[in-house]
Amino acid sequence: MAYEPADPLTAAANLLRRHRIGAPPVPVDRIAKLCRAAIRYIHIEKELLGTFSLIGEIPTIGVNSILNMNRQRFAIAHGLGHLELHRNLLSRRGIDELRCPTPDWQTEYIRIEVEANQFAAALLMPGVLINYEALNTIF
Ligand SMILES: [Zn+2]
Repeated sequence: MAYEPADPLTAAANLLRRHRIGAPPVPVDRIAKLCRAAIRYIHIEKELLGTFSLIGEIPTIGVNSILNMNRQRFAIAHGLGHLELHRNLLSRRGIDELRCPTPDWQTEYIRIEVEANQFAAALLMPGVLINYEALNTIF
């Protein structure tokens, strides 16, 4: 079956709506917990954000522990993108782990990695919440 590109922006907005996240900063750890996903901090090579895998039936987001806090939040959001967009693809291909490269890394998974990055950006900086902040901030 051919891979159908996902819509990362709609998926991120739906995830925020489903968990009633209405104000920044977006609590990615809490969203992962609500999605029944585990987060593990792992020491891996510096080119990787982290990993996404199914350990048993538990979706597990591996976060590269050498990243700074903001990059770790992005890695969790990126993993949530794989959970929302690619979980079926992962199991259908019989792959038990995606290793998530930084954006400049070439890989056969580049398209799904770009989708997960778009999802992460939309989750961490959702247009609706950014507009809310802008309207309620005195500059
Ligand atoms: Zn990835």
